[in-house]
Amino acid sequence: MGTHEECGVFGVMAPTPVDVAGLCYVGLQALQHRGQESCGIVVNDDGVFFSHKDLGLVSEVFGKRELESLPAATMAVAHVRYGTTGSNSRANCQPIEVNHQKGRMALAHNGNLSNATELRMALELSGAIFHSSSDTETIAYIVTRERLTTPSIEEALSRAMDTLEGAYSLVLLSPQKLICARDPHGFRPLCYGKTPDGIYAVASESCALQALGATFIRDVNSGEIVVFSKDGVTSHREHCGLAPKRTCVFEYIYFARPDSVIDGVEVHTSRIEAGRILARTHPVDADIVIGAPDSGLDAALGFSHKSGIPYGIGLIKNKYVGRTFIAPTDRKGQVKIKLAAIESEVAGKRVVLVDDSIVRGTTSRRVVQLLRDAGAREVHMRISAPPFLHPCFYGTDIDSEEHLIACRHTVDEIASLIGADSLGYLPLEELGCLTCGNGYCDACFSGTYPTSTPTVRGKDRFERRLSDA
Ligand code: AMP
Repeated sequence: MGTHEECGVFGVMAPTPVDVAGLCYVGLQALQHRGQESCGIVVNDDGVFFSHKDLGLVSEVFGKRELESLPAATMAVAHVRYGTTGSNSRANCQPIEVNHQKGRMALAHNGNLSNATELRMALELSGAIFHSSSDTETIAYIVTRERLTTPSIEEALSRAMDTLEGAYSLVLLSPQKLICARDPHGFRPLCYGKTPDGIYAVASESCALQALGATFIRDVNSGEIVVFSKDGVTSHREHCGLAPKRTCVFEYIYFARPDSVIDGVEVHTSRIEAGRILARTHPVDADIVIGAPDSGLDAALGFSHKSGIPYGIGLIKNKYVGRTFIAPTDRKGQVKIKLAAIESEVAGKRVVLVDDSIVRGTTSRRVVQLLRDAGAREVHMRISAPPFLHPCFYGTDIDSEEHLIACRHTVDEIASLIGADSLGYLPLEELGCLTCGNGYCDACFSGTYPTSTPTVRGKDRFERRLSDA
């Protein structure tokens, strides 16, 4: 488990041909925090598709040459990926493109299907051949099959949604249309907006609309399909209201960028609230509150507001060291390159350290040690999420139970394992305060799943074993 997350989707539709690849580049840069393994852009130039995708960051995959190789056009879709299903291979780069009887289609997906195994098995038994190990190809197959017997791509997608279960925020490109859809629970965010020159943009997070200079119009509703075409914007709501709203609460805690607004709630405000709750439920006498950069900063501020303990900047993160950084010899040295303590802020002090989550406990242990080495007298760890106890089937990469420290140890044991003087987690029953009353999914904390759960588990469930003859 790194410090990284899942996927981001993006799409644009312009009234006349423009540099849509350039617009996608801007959108993907703003969504980079949602996935760093691979990225891609597919441009639709009057029904002819051009694409570029590869492993790497947006700035590594797209240089001037790659962007110029994609023509001016009216539509494009794009994706950044952190694989939660399937291995880190080129075949899993998105958006995926398929040829089918009615033309071409490109598809980018954020989320995980909880019934992917069953759906894929049924398709394979009927002769389908898969190129990748991602759920997205399964969705593409089902949509294109439905397209054979439906009059439009959006109706094919709607029919496909009858069988898909789990998390999917999708952007889809057909020869004539840009289409987006959000699953009936609305696990993953999705919204759209418009630029002053009439270009529509769809994005996983509103921060990408802002980067483009687009005005946020609204979130895509749970279960909704929105179609952008030369005839305007239409909404299809036959899957709306069929399931209770279950936005992933971890989007607010960790995934999303603080300036994004998801389903009407600003992520930054939500994190401040988490910090305030921590200060109320796990108070402590201390001299300074600091956040673990970057995901703990907003909650640390909230903790400081509520407790009255001054907020300080005790830790500095090196912005230029990515997760692919390989420490020359000693891998433990890595954290010292990524993070450093400001001695004058913490030496001799009782420090409250706020972070968003503990998975294996490795990060927390190192950060606590860093603060002690800088002279901190006490370190009180506060976590703006409840303990991770259960796997996620909807697109959050959570280690298997055997690696989750909270599955094997009590809170006091974890405190001593990470070397903290005390440890406090956000209480499960307070999570509702983070989404301002919107329905949310907290399965990774509570074990209560909104859908049936997969019979075959594990990220690599579709990787073919060598023994498969
Ligand atoms: P660990 O060292 O395993 O306890 O990892 C904890 C750190 O991983 C936290 O500080 C989080 O910022 C980060 N984290 C939590 N959940 C995820 C996730 N699903 N994907 C990537 N990073 C995560």
